[in-house]
Amino acid sequence: MANLDTNSEVHSADVLILGAGLAGYIVANRVKELNPELSVLLVEKSTAGWSGSKANKGAGVMWVMEEKDDVGKFRDYYSAHHGHGLEDQELLEKVCGTTLEMVGHLERWGVNVAREADGSLARSNLLPLWALCAFDLDILMKLRKVATKYGVKSVDKTQVVELLTQGNRVVGAVGFDITDGTFRTFKAKAVVNATGSCCWMVSNMWSSARGDGIAAAWRAGAKMRNGEFSNFYNLGLRGNQAAMVGSQYALYNADNEWIAKRYCPDFETDVDLGIILGMEKEVRDGKGPISFEETELFYNNPLAVGDFLFRWNRPNAKKFWQRLWEGEGKYNSDRSWRPEVIPMFIGECSPVMTDHDMRSSLEGMWVLGDTNRSGAGWAGAVPPPSRIRGSGLTWASVSALLGSKSLADYAAGASDPVIDEDQVARFREALYAPMGRDRGLDVRESIFRLQEVISPPRYSARKSAGRIGESLARVDEVLHEVDEVTPGGDWHVLGLCHDLKNMAQCAEIYFTSALARTESRGWHYREDFPQRDDATWRKWVDVELRDGKAVVSTTPLPFERFKTPAVVDPWFYETMYEAIR
Ligand SMILES: Cc1cc2nc3c(=O)[nH]c(=O)nc-3n(C[C@H](O)[C@H](O)[C@H](O)COP(=O)(O)OP(=O)(O)OC[C@H]3O[C@@H](n4cnc5c(N)ncnc54)[C@H](O)[C@@H]3O)c2cc1C
Repeated sequence: MANLDTNSEVHSADVLILGAGLAGYIVANRVKELNPELSVLLVEKSTAGWSGSKANKGAGVMWVMEEKDDVGKFRDYYSAHHGHGLEDQELLEKVCGTTLEMVGHLERWGVNVAREADGSLARSNLLPLWALCAFDLDILMKLRKVATKYGVKSVDKTQVVELLTQGNRVVGAVGFDITDGTFRTFKAKAVVNATGSCCWMVSNMWSSARGDGIAAAWRAGAKMRNGEFSNFYNLGLRGNQAAMVGSQYALYNADNEWIAKRYCPDFETDVDLGIILGMEKEVRDGKGPISFEETELFYNNPLAVGDFLFRWNRPNAKKFWQRLWEGEGKYNSDRSWRPEVIPMFIGECSPVMTDHDMRSSLEGMWVLGDTNRSGAGWAGAVPPPSRIRGSGLTWASVSALLGSKSLADYAAGASDPVIDEDQVARFREALYAPMGRDRGLDVRESIFRLQEVISPPRYSARKSAGRIGESLARVDEVLHEVDEVTPGGDWHVLGLCHDLKNMAQCAEIYFTSALARTESRGWHYREDFPQRDDATWRKWVDVELRDGKAVVSTTPLPFERFKTPAVVDPWFYETMYEAIR
């Protein structure tokens, strides 16, 4: 049996930030600027400013609304084609109106945002209603420098496992050091949950997103919203999982038929569910595998990989992506290059519900970035990245900016937290329980069993009550396995045991919400309810844990305050869903 006689540490701060990703760093810096007197502490599972965060791994492309971009037109377009009438239009407008401010803060903090020689923002000009701009991948190192100057403290290699509560208020967290097992208690007047989304460890580059903070918030009683939109698929190369962004126009079936004609004949700003369902149908019809061959449409697409990644002067991003593509040998103009392309499951469960100031349903807890991207409601019936590349980085930054003022004010006026030592003791015992097992199940096998009912298109692209039921039953089995997995005395694997529980609970949120929405809308396609039903379902599905059970409720959208009326995109419901039957 492993030695469980671990050290203990207690840390206190006015503002405790869980997760040192882009959202975590921006809110840390902003809170210090708004009120330098507040002590701010970042807790990071990996190394703050370096690993863990997705911003370092990404393409660095961000969505910006410049002055010349018409927010009203964008909102109308977004509602019809992306949000499908489920978007919070007021928050959507607020986000649009904050993107230029975001660029200003980033540049002020030393981030290299690409600009043209005349000083204007470098943007991809091919998109009609919004701008795609970019920064380089050293962004977190720049933000960390500023945070250090401001006196923000950080604790690394610490996996936060549970939130501490005082009634309905969140007053801290507990976790452990993934290198030596040290038990850490964190006390705070205000807590920011910026631990990221859940992607269920299916695709390598997204595997840092294991839903830790979402599941901890779920266990603490926080409300979740839009969990049914946790099902993003990228187009990816079989083998190295490189994303083939924009490649929907370059896909052929085994009979050499160009399949975009059937599944995405219109201009698509990003991967839509139609092409994912279509690829699966071709394979089911015996016309697989699907392969990639460049077409003019592909080249003319603003998201085509060459333009998207290499256009701007960003030395770090260039090095990162070139290395990835070198593995494939000849990404370029060789039209005989025909690799197999698959629907690559990403996931992106991000359901923690927040208001427009990023306050959760639990007092004292703000939620930002990938943790609340669906839960905040602005995106509507589409999983992240909302069919707008660049919205991940932008939302992480903008949500941090939108939340920082109310957070700083609250922390300045809040009473000292009262820690329930019994709760700490209970959490501590449960946290180390797997280490006490000499024998048990292999946690990696349990994770694989969970992935089997999440990633295949028949579970996450086309859903039905029957298959959602199968998924929920498997999730339940996996949740029971949580009490039997053993880390074999390894602190890192202890972390994986907690990841298993967190990912299973995120799956429970996802499938419970998906079962409740008995219609099809945007990226939520139910074979048993193929029509969009505005009369019944222009509502958000909310789920929360009550007495150990997932309880579903609905909240009507305040659409009487919205400027864009609900418009049904006929192609989507009458043509696309027909085509894949
Ligand atoms: C390969 C790739 C390419 C991408 N490209 C783009 C792009 O070009 N444009 C775009 O807009 N978006 C892109 N994205 C998405 C974008 O990177 C994210 O939306 C954004 O970075 C999210 O930031 P965040 O701070 O909310 O979350 P994260 O970056 O996920 O940060 C969360 C942090 O919390 C830490 N953490 C997690 N659990 C715990 C715990 N239990 N205890 C303590 N700490 C914890 C993590 O280690 C991490 O550092 C890409 C993502 C990937 C993976």
